[in-house]
Amino acid sequence: MNSGYRGRFAPSPTGPLHAGSLVAALASWLDARAHGGQWLVRMEDVDAPRCIDGMDAVILVQLAALGLVPDEAPVYQSTRAPHYQRALDDLIQRGLAYPCRCSRKDIEAASAADGRARVRGGELVYPGTCRKSIHGKAGEAWRLRTDPVNDHGAPTIRWQDRRLGLQSQNVEQSVGDFPLKRADGFFTYQLAVVVDDAAQGITDVVRGEDLADNTARQIRLQQALNVPTPRYFHVPLVLGENGEKLSKQNGAATLDLGSPAVALNAAASRLGLRCVAPGTAEIGKGDRAADAFGAWVEEWRHLYNRTGD
Ligand code: GLU
Repeated sequence: MNSGYRGRFAPSPTGPLHAGSLVAALASWLDARAHGGQWLVRMEDVDAPRCIDGMDAVILVQLAALGLVPDEAPVYQSTRAPHYQRALDDLIQRGLAYPCRCSRKDIEAASAADGRARVRGGELVYPGTCRKSIHGKAGEAWRLRTDPVNDHGAPTIRWQDRRLGLQSQNVEQSVGDFPLKRADGFFTYQLAVVVDDAAQGITDVVRGEDLADNTARQIRLQQALNVPTPRYFHVPLVLGENGEKLSKQNGAATLDLGSPAVALNAAASRLGLRCVAPGTAEIGKGDRAADAFGAWVEEWRHLYNRTGD
């Protein structure tokens, strides 16, 4: 049993847990237990304007009612700005990050002018305008260089997802130099998640498949910061009636905690677990959940035992 395993569930407190986020929470918990490891909760409240006051407490109460209790006190990204700034300063000093004053309009104009505007997920790929004109002045936003510079990073990032298999992305071509700190002074999800996963010694990231596309950017940043790359496992999404991913934004219903076993069994079946957890009456009674979920942990181990270590 690998007791060096450290996993995490990293909700953004922008709304309560719903059926989709529970799948990620349960999967990350089961994977940690199946490896005899630690399970942490990190509140991703780095994008303060999108967070709702008190939602962190709501999420922690929901998790506890479902029997999912973190092994360490939750970490809040809103308290970690000095760590993010230190990482950014390090990248700036080594010429790997640069200030950018481009507005959305500037990016549109520059992309149109060089005649090869590239669009991805509704967003223009950043054409690198400010990369060539670093004047040493403080810029508005800060971006990571994604071209090979100072031997940092391979042009194409390849990674083995434990569920999706081999993945690859050329970040420079597909995304461009991406923001680490925004013009409004907030650090971005990409920087915060990489700094925190490293600081918390996370060995395994288990999260929703909608985040899989961020992984190459995060690995690129891990390489630039010289921190280890965890293993990744992206779990299936729960789709709403309209066929779209269930999310807080499209009105996903809050979990019914009057019957935690129903919510948990639905999440387990989305993860391909066939057995119904015996003894779910124990749910919510702290560490006794470990017994209640024993059958799932066994089945998880059988289905998804980590390979390629
Ligand atoms: N905070 C992100 C979300 O709620 C998850 C980030 C992650 O697991 O890497 O979608």
